[in-house]
Amino acid sequence: MKYISDFLTADEIKSLSGFVPRTREEYQRLNQLAYNLKLNTKIPFTVHIEPTNNCNQTCVMCVHPDMKRSVNAIEEDVAMKAINECAEFGVYATHFFFFGEPFMNRKTIDYIKYAKEKGIPLVSVTTNLTTIKDSEIERLVTDGLDSIHISFEGRDRENYAKIRGTDSYERVIRNLDRLLYYKEKHGRKNPWVSMTYVRTSETDEEIAEYQEKWRDRVNHFHISPQFDYIGRAPIRKEQADPNSGSIMDRDQKDRLPCRQLWLRLVVLSNGELVPCSQNIDGELSVGNIKDMTIAEAWQNEKMAALRGQHITNSIPKSCVCSDCIDWDWSGRVDDRQKLGRTDIQQLLRNS
Ligand code: SF4
Repeated sequence: MKYISDFLTADEIKSLSGFVPRTREEYQRLNQLAYNLKLNTKIPFTVHIEPTNNCNQTCVMCVHPDMKRSVNAIEEDVAMKAINECAEFGVYATHFFFFGEPFMNRKTIDYIKYAKEKGIPLVSVTTNLTTIKDSEIERLVTDGLDSIHISFEGRDRENYAKIRGTDSYERVIRNLDRLLYYKEKHGRKNPWVSMTYVRTSETDEEIAEYQEKWRDRVNHFHISPQFDYIGRAPIRKEQADPNSGSIMDRDQKDRLPCRQLWLRLVVLSNGELVPCSQNIDGELSVGNIKDMTIAEAWQNEKMAALRGQHITNSIPKSCVCSDCIDWDWSGRVDDRQKLGRTDIQQLLRNS
């Protein structure tokens, strides 16, 4: 077995663990290194802040109806503490989204502005774009939002309503038109626009048609596998085939340590801090931001124990990870970039 100390000197490990990415390229390379080398970094490179866990849609692939925690908007002082810490610690990416529609909290627009004012390099939001107001769309552009991920499935109005549970197809298109109009009006390249599409048995056939339709209008498509959410996804069984193998490796036998534990921390709307997007009720909570900082939670004993259990493949039955099949959540293990010693030395030389 190779150990990290066979590969890097103690000083190099220390430097890498404390490295604060300054560019998108460094951020991506550091993410890969943190996972590949199982680094105990001083801070997460990505923090999600959940503005609310309320949602106005009832998507067929979503387990939101199954969520047990109470529905609430994040308290303003909790949101501000999280943003201030992200800025202070050098968190590269802050996403205003977790398990709800962010713009159902009208303060989300102010949080985005504040995060950009504090100098966080990458600020983004994921939204269904159904509840946002026109004035807010313009502010996303003028306040400097870096990227927006629009959750949108369905090739037409009827299919959209069938999949997402509301008749909002035309409203989303109108709001997207407005966003593109404001980008042009203000001469801004950002926010970068990505359409995200969850692949399910209902949507599988539509993907090519959907991409063709939007190709010229947005910057990016993200086709996401459907997640199991630790057995809670209502159409799990129907989805087992389309998603296994072709998109995600869900074979428990050759299971790898879950990437999420090295990459990001989520601040839930109730302040709980969780390292994973699959435990929607915060089952893996490592603390509450009201009692500690993001950096403290990231380095605390609970996080260390979780990482250790994954590395040694000794996850106790009592832990939700043991029943989770979404551990390869970013998909396609083989496509992951492998970084070698030369890459690391170059990164450190530039630091
Ligand atoms: S194994 Fe599953 S539950 Fe555990 S951290 Fe990863 S995605 Fe979350």
